[in-house]
Amino acid sequence: MTEANTQPEVNIGLVGHVDHGKTTLVQALSGSWTDQHSEEMKRGISIRLGYADATFRRCPGVDAPECYTVDEECEDGSESEPIRTVSFVDAPGHETLMATMLSGASIMDGAVLVVSATEDVPQAQTEEHLMALDLIGIENIVIAQNKVDLVDRDRAVDNYEQIQEFVEGTVAEDAPIVPVSAQQEVNLDLLIDAIETEIPTPDRDPGESARMYAARSFDINRPGASAEDLKGGVVGGSLVSGELSVGDGLEIRPGREVDEEGQTEWRPLETTVRSLQAGNRDVETAHPGGLLGVGTGLDPSLTKGDALAGQVAGEPGTLPPTREEFEMKVDLLDRVVGKEDDESGESDIEEISTGEPLMLTVGTATTVGAVTSARDGECEVSLKRPVCAESGAQIAINRRVGARWRLIGVGTLT
Ligand code: GDP
Ligand code: MG
Repeated sequence: MTEANTQPEVNIGLVGHVDHGKTTLVQALSGSWTDQHSEEMKRGISIRLGYADATFRRCPGVDAPECYTVDEECEDGSESEPIRTVSFVDAPGHETLMATMLSGASIMDGAVLVVSATEDVPQAQTEEHLMALDLIGIENIVIAQNKVDLVDRDRAVDNYEQIQEFVEGTVAEDAPIVPVSAQQEVNLDLLIDAIETEIPTPDRDPGESARMYAARSFDINRPGASAEDLKGGVVGGSLVSGELSVGDGLEIRPGREVDEEGQTEWRPLETTVRSLQAGNRDVETAHPGGLLGVGTGLDPSLTKGDALAGQVAGEPGTLPPTREEFEMKVDLLDRVVGKEDDESGESDIEEISTGEPLMLTVGTATTVGAVTSARDGECEVSLKRPVCAESGAQIAINRRVGARWRLIGVGTLT
């Protein structure tokens, strides 16, 4: 591995039921805690997608899987060699935040499904998240059977068989199941081995035009900074194709809403890339994989407080259109997944009807749309906030069921 590819090259989602150990596992593999937001700390759940990079390493002269580690020093005192840097996207397990998980899914190259050995399988979000991976087409999956330190052998075997039965017939049918303890750091070598095999770095064409999905945006200036010290707005997200270099032009869509003579419309933003941060350091050129911070020439008031989250950035003139309404083909699930026993509401999914509100996740954007027309397997929606998306884009469709938004199907933009 050269210096150039210490940038993370693949995004791996952590999904699964709340408290099953996703954040603890990311911490064990990366040495950093993804729950950084103060509010997240308070609530003890990951509200925003948290990224954490981990460099997988190998101890020379040791056989697989024992050779795999994240430590720089091997047991015999020798130095380990870096193999690959990956970026973990720690999705929230709390089910009301399903939209956040789905917006993360659009930038995941593979996923680790964390299942606690201490509970019956499946728990509500274990099922819901697996269904989402299935719908969005994430096929490279490793299952971590976590908390094996808390159960005896019989219970562990029983739970393992429950997992096998649960994934039968799903996208995770052939996924390896690795018993681990994230907290006691047991079997992490086996887990790294499985990730190395099952979640390869995708082949990418650096000649494609740059396309970035924004997940965050910030104003990094301290309050009261003087005009000459003021730094341009920062956009955080993931590059899904092409490369981005300092000095490149950048267009961001839908951009910003402008009010002119009582008419509102969305205008794309145009700026240049002033700085790039990948893998926690400044780089001249960034590649797909990991969280990218792009320093721009934009007025920081435009990027403040995640104002550009969900938008798409790339080479000027190459971005898909901004849509305030669109038509999609719809595939509904057979039934509502992830419903708790004590919840009311029907489990069967009824056809989408004209006039009903839907919550739609398109790329990293989440927007509410009203259905303006619905027929067999197709519907038209009018959006509260427009999205930038090309035809063929996948859309996660959520409906209010009881008190919550529930995933009911997937749409394809026509
Ligand atoms: P998340 O909601 O899936 O991110 O779960 P967390 O990583 O926050 O873990 C939930 C709780 O389970 C925390 O108190 C962890 O310390 C604990 N935990 C996580 N992994 C393990 C494990 O392997 N063994 C034990 N005993 N506890 C664990
Ligand atoms: Mg967590």
